[in-house]
Amino acid sequence: MKDLLDEDSLKYKYFIENCEKIAKNYGYSYIETPSLEETALFKRSVGESSDIVNKEMYQFLDKGGNDVCLRPEGTAGIVRAFVQNKFDKAGVAKRYFYHGPMFRYERPQKGRLRCFHQFGVESFGQKNVTEDATVIAMLAQIFAYFGIDTTLKLNSLGCSECMPKYKEGLLEYLQELSHALCEDCNNRIATNPIRVLDCKNQSCQNLLKDAPKITQNLCAECDEDFKRLQKLLDVANISYEIDTNLVRGLDYYNKSAFEFVSDKIGAQSSIAGGGRYDKLVEYLDGKATYGVGFAIGVERLLDLIETPKSTREGYMLVSSSKEGIQKLFVKAQALRLESQAILEYSPKNLKNALKLADKNSALYLLYIGDDELAQDKIWMKNLSTKDESLIDF
Ligand SMILES: [Zn+2]
Ligand SMILES: [Zn+2]
Repeated sequence: MKDLLDEDSLKYKYFIENCEKIAKNYGYSYIETPSLEETALFKRSVGESSDIVNKEMYQFLDKGGNDVCLRPEGTAGIVRAFVQNKFDKAGVAKRYFYHGPMFRYERPQKGRLRCFHQFGVESFGQKNVTEDATVIAMLAQIFAYFGIDTTLKLNSLGCSECMPKYKEGLLEYLQELSHALCEDCNNRIATNPIRVLDCKNQSCQNLLKDAPKITQNLCAECDEDFKRLQKLLDVANISYEIDTNLVRGLDYYNKSAFEFVSDKIGAQSSIAGGGRYDKLVEYLDGKATYGVGFAIGVERLLDLIETPKSTREGYMLVSSSKEGIQKLFVKAQALRLESQAILEYSPKNLKNALKLADKNSALYLLYIGDDELAQDKIWMKNLSTKDESLIDF
């Protein structure tokens, strides 16, 4: 785990604040859910067989004997909140953005943190594929805003009608190949065959080249939606690659799946991912509700982000005497109603006062020396224009 401070915290704030601004432009509002949830929630939503649930959960019994867990991701808690507030029964559409710490008990390794941050959005109640195109457009806008080069990968995972049929065909194909595939692949053939497509092993990938593709086995509705999504991205000038190996391990994901990758932080590293999850709300005991969303891993991006050069702002207040400092304490409180004001507590001469103002990037120095104290005045200097003046207290 790592502290966020100084340069890192500035970058973090800068990133989150601009993501928020963009998400608000799309009609999203902020949701905050607890960092701690019942373990059962994640077992059901993230999936009992996933690595996250098997090995990486920050899970413990609290003093009341409840089996709880620090959230490994954001979606499950938000779906729980959506259902708990009965929005599913009311059939209302909701659009939320969230950000905050997520926790995974990973083996310590470079670039992996046990406490990391995500920014994400979840949209509930929209069946129209325009919503999928819109959340993708939002992500593209976020990366463009920060000048991060990305490649968008796109796939369709079909629906409960076409996916199972596709899976059957794929399974037949894989079983004939199984002797040549790696051990991981063989495990997945038994548990979750479409995850075989995801294998990082190049020799497996070579064997899988001629495997049946989901995009060629979609039902009429899924096919139409997938084509419509591509059309919408085309007209919005968002480029993409179809990647039929982009799959998810869980049944409640359907139709659009997407991922933004970047070469700037290692070869083709994923920096954001998302898609449609029309079955998740039902899966977590709610009334069936359409859903689509994405999540961005923040830490990996911070190295790629340049914060704007900090400009001078606010006031530095310094005096040569205790009496002057006491007067400036009152002045600082008045200024703080509108601007930044930093008060120095020990007496300083003018030369050191100017240095302090510089160090704190203040736009104005307010100084009370002995003369100013006697006259009940403040000497003010604009450190940008270098204008000086004597003002009334
Ligand atoms: Zn379908
Ligand atoms: Zn493999």
